Amino acid sequence: MQKKIKPTNRYESNNFLKREKDLFYSLSDKNPNQIKTKDFKNALLKSGLKSNDNRLYDLFRKLDSSENEIYFKDFIKIISSSELLVEKALRGELALPDFSDFSKSVDEMYDDVIKNKSGELASYIPPLAKVDPNQFGISIVTIDGQIYQRGDCKVDFSLQSMCKPFNYCLALEKFGLELVHKHVGQEPSGRQFNDLTLLTRSLEGKSNKKLTRIPFNPMINAGAIMTAGLINSEDTYEKRLNFIKEQYGKLIGWSANGKFESKFPRFNKDVAREENFTGYNNLAIGYLLMATGNLPGKKNKLKKDKNTSKNEFDFYIEPTVTDALKLYFSVCSLEMTATEVAMAAATLANNGVCPVTQSRVFNQKTVRDCLPILQSSGMYDASGAFFQEVGLPAKSGVGGGVFFVVPQLMGICIFSPRLDEQGNSVRGIEMAKRITSKYLVHIFDGAMTNADRVDPRIPISKWRANSCGEAIWAASIGDIRTLERLASEQKDLGIGNSDMRTPLHLAAAEGQLEVVQFLLEQGVKLVPDRWGGYGYFDAKNNNHKKILKVLDKLNIKFLKPKHLVEEPNGETDEVAKYDDELMVSELLFAAAGNDITRIRQLIAKGIPVHAGNFDSRTALHLAAAEGNLETVKLLINYKHPINVRDRWNSTPSDEAKREKRLAVYNFLKTLKPKNKS
Ligand code: GLN
Repeated sequence: MQKKIKPTNRYESNNFLKREKDLFYSLSDKNPNQIKTKDFKNALLKSGLKSNDNRLYDLFRKLDSSENEIYFKDFIKIISSSELLVEKALRGELALPDFSDFSKSVDEMYDDVIKNKSGELASYIPPLAKVDPNQFGISIVTIDGQIYQRGDCKVDFSLQSMCKPFNYCLALEKFGLELVHKHVGQEPSGRQFNDLTLLTRSLEGKSNKKLTRIPFNPMINAGAIMTAGLINSEDTYEKRLNFIKEQYGKLIGWSANGKFESKFPRFNKDVAREENFTGYNNLAIGYLLMATGNLPGKKNKLKKDKNTSKNEFDFYIEPTVTDALKLYFSVCSLEMTATEVAMAAATLANNGVCPVTQSRVFNQKTVRDCLPILQSSGMYDASGAFFQEVGLPAKSGVGGGVFFVVPQLMGICIFSPRLDEQGNSVRGIEMAKRITSKYLVHIFDGAMTNADRVDPRIPISKWRANSCGEAIWAASIGDIRTLERLASEQKDLGIGNSDMRTPLHLAAAEGQLEVVQFLLEQGVKLVPDRWGGYGYFDAKNNNHKKILKVLDKLNIKFLKPKHLVEEPNGETDEVAKYDDELMVSELLFAAAGNDITRIRQLIAKGIPVHAGNFDSRTALHLAAAEGNLETVKLLINYKHPINVRDRWNSTPSDEAKREKRLAVYNFLKTLKPKNKS
């Protein structure tokens, strides 16, 4: 008889369970043993992930066939195939952690920018002159596959020059950097995209130095025609175009059995034909490249004229030139939606791996070699100014599309066909400028430490906790060196926490005389905390006489802060201690800001809801003081004790009363055990 081996089930072992339990718990309502299916779905969707994401498709199908409520055991089964992604989403650890907030700001920008009707359609390619000029779509895809979509983001438009960086990557993959750049340069041209000027280069021959001419870079027409010429030049036109379409398909998240919305790239033959008819300038470039001897291709000339007339010959048209141009026109005439292009840009942002299919399309090195060229030359003769202001590698096309890559974060594509003088989408550029003026995504923003802009990679409450946390902590322990550093970084040393408690308050409370002096020397303004206190009574209550003396000299009449304690001898519940102070501070900011999503994410990360800070303030204190009934109810559902007391002995209900938050006060009163009378 065979011996039965008991299978080891990791879900039966408690060590592994903690993380999953926290996730499950963060979704629960009143009953901690079950969650609502729709709440789980909404939490995932709110994080920016999509139900047609290949990685989540099965999970959403399982949710569709689940009951209205899910128990822990089922939850574990449902998430098992994409557990880490679910964990990141529920803990607010995706690339854009405050996705809803971010979406709202981009919505506002969109609503503003849509009013801009300046610019002209590209008219030199006739079909492009016929598109609806009012169209405006934007799509943003993060490296984690969060997707923002607005306006005409599902409308097909002509890629035009936006194909150039992808073709350049294909050439790099095939031939490597060195060989590709024997044919095309890496230098900004400073000229229009269709300029005929070439770059003069010396070829390092053995004995004599020879000069040759190559296009400035792969992002202007000459360079792109050269790159097109490089891609599989031995194959037939059909095979080459198909190869490119397949590669583009991978970039945009298309896959034969995929569920994601990307479709196989579409070829608009009419646009290509029209370009062939009207693109004299490009034809000229083709011959110019041929003349340099650098255009690759088969060069078998006709042996004999077909025409036998003595006085005539068959005019020869060089197939190397026409092959390169035909392929170039064709690839420019591929059509995609803004979401598809944003996905391709996100693939570049993600070092060559497509976020929704998780398959590698380009090598990391290829992507890293391509982005600097986009940075210097992607916006034609506006590249320098654009990069200085927006600071992102970008590529535009005369079809009205433009994409930006925020490395390691996201790809953005805007489609709006009215163009400026350089041939860049007017609204596209304006959106880009607005995004970088609000968010720290300019690639040189690292050089700015005092920016009042927002880092979208960090949840807003964490950002707030970070910006006051270090200074407050340093002040309370007397770490002058750190405060000096923060001051020279131009950080605001007067910034307060969710109760407006500032470094000065804490230094006064903890008797850090030197710090108080330092802060005053730095010109830090005295600001009142939530209760109207200026640190003076912090020093007084703790009997720090020297500090009182310093503050007395300021000649300010310090009023006594107003704290309220209804029942000084009433019940007292314990405040939880939690090591990660920054996370506590963040929880309090989230409670003060009524940010339910973030509170749940912090619960998913395992913080006890009743964790207290250095003033023994808890989330419930803050939610009560701000009158955030929704948050109060959430915290109560999570068993936040109600008789927690802060440094001044106040309970959350005292705080609600003091701030006249009647609804919260009454609600908390209903929870108190009835007095026996
Ligand atoms: N196919 C167009 C051309 O060659 C592409 C130009 C562009 O988008 N800037 O002119």
